[in-house]
Amino acid sequence: MKVLEHIKNAEGQTLFSLEIIPPLKGDSIDNLFHHIEPLMEFKPPFIDVTYHREEFVYKKRENGLLEKRSIRKRPGTVGICAAIKNRFNVDTVPHIICGGFTKEETENALIDLHFLGIDNVLVLRGDPIKSEQKFTPEKNGHHYATDLLQQVSNINKGVYLDGELQNHHPTNFCVGVAGYPEKHFEAPNLNSDLKYLKMKVELGAEYIVTQLFFDNQKYFDFVKKCRDHGITVPIIPGLKPITVKRHLNILPSTFHIDIPEELANEVEKCKNNEEVKQVGVEWTIHQSKELMKFGVPCLHYYSMGKSDAIYKIGSALF
Ligand code: FAD
Repeated sequence: MKVLEHIKNAEGQTLFSLEIIPPLKGDSIDNLFHHIEPLMEFKPPFIDVTYHREEFVYKKRENGLLEKRSIRKRPGTVGICAAIKNRFNVDTVPHIICGGFTKEETENALIDLHFLGIDNVLVLRGDPIKSEQKFTPEKNGHHYATDLLQQVSNINKGVYLDGELQNHHPTNFCVGVAGYPEKHFEAPNLNSDLKYLKMKVELGAEYIVTQLFFDNQKYFDFVKKCRDHGITVPIIPGLKPITVKRHLNILPSTFHIDIPEELANEVEKCKNNEEVKQVGVEWTIHQSKELMKFGVPCLHYYSMGKSDAIYKIGSALF
């Protein structure tokens, strides 16, 4: 079922959903199932699975020269979506990205997803690969999420890349996109970012999932600005509890977000990471309660493959 239908069927009740990351290459999918299993108690109607593109590593050859190798550390997004759907009877939302894909490869991936009965996709640009300063699309790939959205909207209308195709069966994906309450780090200002977010909605995005944030006021302001810009689709807040002290530095540098002073001070005072987790969980519960009161359609938790903190949060709320 589509994410939008789940939201409609909930009739104003806040849903619980989560995002997981594929296991590292070589790991068993059982570890992932083990983490998801307890969270099924909160009846997530859908689970997002991230997509991780290739990275480049340099290996020293015997002759001393460096060899550039492309590796994908976390493959398997499509397979994991099908496996989770099969095992837990829950809808899955694979993330699809521009980076590393030609338009042809994207089309084939969408056909696979459609055949697997997956009804949703979260359409993203993807970040630049670590060795690049700025995002570079594949030759014959997409530059922005807006371009990729156009392709998904086309295939939803039965328009494939090969215009001469005889049997052009339309797909029927419900499409989500990313939004940034604290602005996307490359955007010159929030208004410019919102202009492109609106374009994403006009191109067929039916809902927005936000980047993680720790200050609800940033989400409330973002929703207001979106509505002022004429963006009317549901805006699902993305939340992540801080669980280790080094998150204080890693999260702002990775996701370009602020951590409120009050939270950072509480985390600094902790003697060990068990205490940090406790502080992080309490903060996220407080955030979640306030967001529920505000009437958000769904609380979307970034589990990063670990379930214990999310389980504590879910138990307090759902
Ligand atoms: P876009 O919407 O393309 O925006 C990128 C930048 O370009 C913005 O500054 C925007 O203002 C600007 N812009 C947008 N459209 C245009 C246009 N047409 N012309 C000019 N400028 C434009 N990354 C992954 O690799 N895998 C994942 O699974 C993944 N999941 C994510 C899930 C969520 C909920 C979020 C919030 C992010 C996720 N990301 C993921 C990270 C995401 O790929 C990065 O944040 C990326 O830098 C931007 O992606 P986007 O889809 O928001 O890009």
